[in-house]
Amino acid sequence: MADEYDLPKGELMKGKKGLIMGVANHNSIAWGIASQLAAQGAELAFSYMGEGLERRVRPLAESVGSKLLIQADVADDASMDAAFAEVEAAFGTIDFLVHSIAFADKEQLKGSFVENTTREGFLNAMNISAFSFVDCSRRAAKLMPNGGSIICMTYLGAERVIPNYNVMGVAKAALEASTRYVARDLGPQGIRVNAISAGAMRTLSLAGISGGRGMLSQGRAFSALKEDTSMEGVAGAALWLLSDLGRSTTGEVVHVDAGFHMVGLPDGFEG
Ligand code: NAD
Repeated sequence: MADEYDLPKGELMKGKKGLIMGVANHNSIAWGIASQLAAQGAELAFSYMGEGLERRVRPLAESVGSKLLIQADVADDASMDAAFAEVEAAFGTIDFLVHSIAFADKEQLKGSFVENTTREGFLNAMNISAFSFVDCSRRAAKLMPNGGSIICMTYLGAERVIPNYNVMGVAKAALEASTRYVARDLGPQGIRVNAISAGAMRTLSLAGISGGRGMLSQGRAFSALKEDTSMEGVAGAALWLLSDLGRSTTGEVVHVDAGFHMVGLPDGFEG
């Protein structure tokens, strides 16, 4: 199943072990990244949320030879304690962590941000989509005595206003700032911490955003390359950041969005 993408094979991750958090199904960005890491020789553990997802994630994990599949709800400390204890028991130490997790209530992802955002919705999105990255990084760093590399996934809605993205944009802004603060704290231990800002991609998360399809088509139309963001491109950036190719890069937000982020006005504007 890892062969569904056109991914370069090699040994850039040979001898490296790590945890992939956030595969829900074969469309998940975390799965594209995991496939690329496996194609380069990494040994992977997967965490997923909720028993319902196990039947989707298990065959994917097994297809890349992973023996460690654990349940972890990032909003639940006991579940996180148990998950990282399992990773430590199985791997001892790890070299990398992929955090590819976000959540906001559907009602918070449409219409007016100022009118529709509730205290509960705001805190929930921040907790699961931003704080969890700080928590996961802290836990992972304890298993990285020899240094390591950590990445998370973000979107342009952190930097600019994207209709309907609303509270998730605010949570992504916190996630990107957290990336820098965590990178500074963990730098002396040789742990690099970076974020990938991907363009819109067809996943479960995108389906939860009102007008998600418009984000895809407008993203393509605005982009410099005039194409969708590819899973191969995102997975390639993850490979760079998580392998030794990425040494010296930390605290960075890397845009992998076909050049969507740097265009101010669409073609045809000049009339
Ligand atoms: P996805 O739905 O496949 O992945 C989101 C994951 O978050 C799921 O596996 C889900 O189970 C997990 N999750 C939600 N709440 C959780 C919790 N409490 N504990 C543990 N896991 C939890 O969608 P995706 O698009 O692959 O999203 C992955 C990441 O990429 C997210 O951070 C998302 O914001 C980001 N991103 C997505 C796009 C896009 O267009 N799809 C673009 C840029 C960034």
